[in-house]
Amino acid sequence: MTEEQLKEFVKGLGQPAFRGGQLFKWMHEKRVDSFAAMTDLPKALICRLEETCCIERLQIGQKQQSRDGTVKYLFRLPDGNCIETVWMQYSYGNTVCVSTQVGCRMGCRFCASTQGGKVRDMTAGEIAGEIYAAMADQGQRVSHIVLMGIGEPLDNFDNVMDFLSIISSPHGINIGMRNISLSTCGLVPRIAELAQRRLQLTLSISLHAPTDEMRSRMMPVNDAYPVAQLIAACRDYQEETGRRISFEYSMVRGVNDSPETAERLAKLIRGMGAHVNLIPINPVDGSPFTATDAAAIRRFQAHLTRLGVNATVRRRLGTDISAACGQLRREAKRSE
Ligand code: SAH
Repeated sequence: MTEEQLKEFVKGLGQPAFRGGQLFKWMHEKRVDSFAAMTDLPKALICRLEETCCIERLQIGQKQQSRDGTVKYLFRLPDGNCIETVWMQYSYGNTVCVSTQVGCRMGCRFCASTQGGKVRDMTAGEIAGEIYAAMADQGQRVSHIVLMGIGEPLDNFDNVMDFLSIISSPHGINIGMRNISLSTCGLVPRIAELAQRRLQLTLSISLHAPTDEMRSRMMPVNDAYPVAQLIAACRDYQEETGRRISFEYSMVRGVNDSPETAERLAKLIRGMGAHVNLIPINPVDGSPFTATDAAAIRRFQAHLTRLGVNATVRRRLGTDISAACGQLRREAKRSE
């Protein structure tokens, strides 16, 4: 529950609203595991909470440590389902990449997370729990969050909005919206809804291709929300929020990596001041795609730069531990 929801909840128990604020601090700032540890709450309320509520924590199912400091967790949720969370160390601090759904129903053809479909949405508490469990294991603070793990965040809209409220609250772990990135495959109506919230987070769009023909080959969601609609929604989003969008562009050999494609991409997003992140596609089992080689990616980047588009090649972390999301969960399901 968000702080507001907790306040409503305790009012329903006949308690003053500020008790909800206390509960929120205990769970999200001090992160205690039991109601008994909440020493400033009345005994009667603690008993009532113990009878009717629980504080759930995620269990570490598996943990893989990369040579570069990246750690990949397979966390077990209270109902037994598994999701993945990645811990990354950068010069500016620690970043956690969270999953937002158990599985995914978007069907991107290159992605391991969607291969078994969607099992269920994650709750706001479970998503926050990924960060808390990783912090507890690492014994360190987190400065940045990316919603780029398993699942489509905007397909679990309400829970993700509650999660953002919880982790950005000054009464919890207080992560500033500007240190949060949310990535979407392009659910146009939800992008418009998000714009209305005017959050200061960074919206990342998994664009991957500048034409419908090319994008539909990679992402079925493009049949519902074609490129022109998506870019129009992005321009509206920038206008509404005053925040620049970033585009993710996973490079697939022979599909979206030609010089003509760079030109089409530049034309499509011209004038947006947007940033393009180039990523070699990570080959996963059952995917028909292979990655563009490093030299060709650099040529594509240089071409975009000449055309006035700000593009960088994403540094890869954790390649020795299959840290790209979806792979560990899939292996674990297979061996079960
Ligand atoms: N559902 C959201 C967020 C999760 S995926 C989204 O689609 O944006 C995070 C990013 O990884 C997305 O840009 C996604 O397209 C990309 N991705 C997924 N599988 C990949 C792979 N095998 N290689 C490279 N990028 C991949």
